[in-house]
Amino acid sequence: MTDDRMALVTGASRGIGRAVALRLAAEGYAIAGCSTSDGEAARKTRAEVESMGVPAWFAPCDVRDVTQVEEFVKAAETALGPVTALVNNAGITRDRPAVLMSPQEWGDVVDTNLTGTWNTCHVVAYRMLKRKTGSIVNLSSIAGVYGNAGQTNYAATKAGIVGLSRSLAKEVARYGIRVNVVAPGFIDTDMTAELGEKQRAQALGRIPLGRFGDPADVADLVAFLLSGRAAYITGQVVQVDGGMVL
Ligand code: NAP
Repeated sequence: MTDDRMALVTGASRGIGRAVALRLAAEGYAIAGCSTSDGEAARKTRAEVESMGVPAWFAPCDVRDVTQVEEFVKAAETALGPVTALVNNAGITRDRPAVLMSPQEWGDVVDTNLTGTWNTCHVVAYRMLKRKTGSIVNLSSIAGVYGNAGQTNYAATKAGIVGLSRSLAKEVARYGIRVNVVAPGFIDTDMTAELGEKQRAQALGRIPLGRFGDPADVADLVAFLLSGRAAYITGQVVQVDGGMVL
């Protein structure tokens, strides 16, 4: 079943973004997805979305570049209709202790995670505002709320996303638009596949529910926050971390 809901998901090719795209497709949203390239992962996700009977429009878009974001959003709306839900999920890590981190590693993460999220909010919220409807979910991390050694760049961007989202929530609430943040703990994706055995075992020891999260665990929360069931929730940061930070 399709309807007039359309979700734009950044970083939709793999991991959490892919799970979000599939979850929202199952709910009947048309899906516009972007990633850095239109490689195998993006093509596979797009095919999976289409196999669920909803329209899909996938294209490369580097969220660091506001001009690319504007073109992507315009083309997606031409193909699928107005964006009614935005999920800012695209993100990267470049972990290293602060004293050893290069300015490049700092800048890459800031440009992708924080500026990328602002770029998409800037372009899409303007369109939602004119239509007086829409819902946004931005992906933070428990590292952004509590900090994490080796991730000063990443944690700073994820904390920045909280400030950005809460401020935007206050700006656009009067237009009927909600903005919330999801802060995952350790989720099984390519991002956490980079962890060594020792790091993984240490992380597991800190998770009361005794496992890393599945991308679908995050997607379920994103879908709820976007939906009418969360109509009175805005400006919130909701953790999905197996009880890791209590
Ligand atoms: P992932 O598996 O590494 O996937 C990252 C996605 O972002 C890919 O689709 C990638 O596209 C896309 N991307 C990266 N840079 C981009 C750019 N400049 N423009 C457009 N797309 C870009 O990551 P993940 O684990 O699913 O994480 C998704 C989000 O959740 C991130 O914001 C991350 O910080 C957050 N998060 C993850 C965890 C975790 O444990 N996994 C925990 C807390 C928060 P390509 O395929 O083209 O590279």
